[in-house]
Amino acid sequence: MSYQFERRALLEELLSKGIRLTAQRRALIEVIQEAKQHLDAGAILERARKREPKIDRATVYRTIELLKKLRLIDELDLMHLEGEKHYYEAKTKRDHVHLACFRCGRIEEFSSPLFEGLKAEISKQAGFTIRVTRLDVGGNCQACAAAGETATEQEDAKTKTATVRSH
Ligand SMILES: [Zn+2]
Ligand SMILES: [Zn+2]
Repeated sequence: MSYQFERRALLEELLSKGIRLTAQRRALIEVIQEAKQHLDAGAILERARKREPKIDRATVYRTIELLKKLRLIDELDLMHLEGEKHYYEAKTKRDHVHLACFRCGRIEEFSSPLFEGLKAEISKQAGFTIRVTRLDVGGNCQACAAAGETATEQEDAKTKTATVRSH
């Protein structure tokens, strides 16, 4: 549910552009493609090393730069939930909004015809050719919001009990 959109096929697109890939680069690209969540460079490196143990950090960054330049992946900060880390994901065929929960750190993806409409409006009214769109929303996810309400109710109950006792 949180990582649900159809993504660009990175390897196929690179190969179709005639870009030659080393085994290390291929491993990195497969990790990004197969990820079920947004990964930072460290997590990409860790996973790729299980396939190609000699991959170093520089190769990770060079590969990310290449994918970014070709606009096959997106770079995100996800509301800085974990400081200055950047996260990467294979571009989805349709743009999506990220919903970042400040309590549990969960990231949900959300798409809407309104978002597409907004982009169309920007292009039309500002005469702007959009290459990248980013919208991140921070707050409480459904589960955390519900848990928050329960916590408040319990607090209220405690306060009431205390009040009754004091009489
Ligand atoms: Zn949450
Ligand atoms: Zn995403």
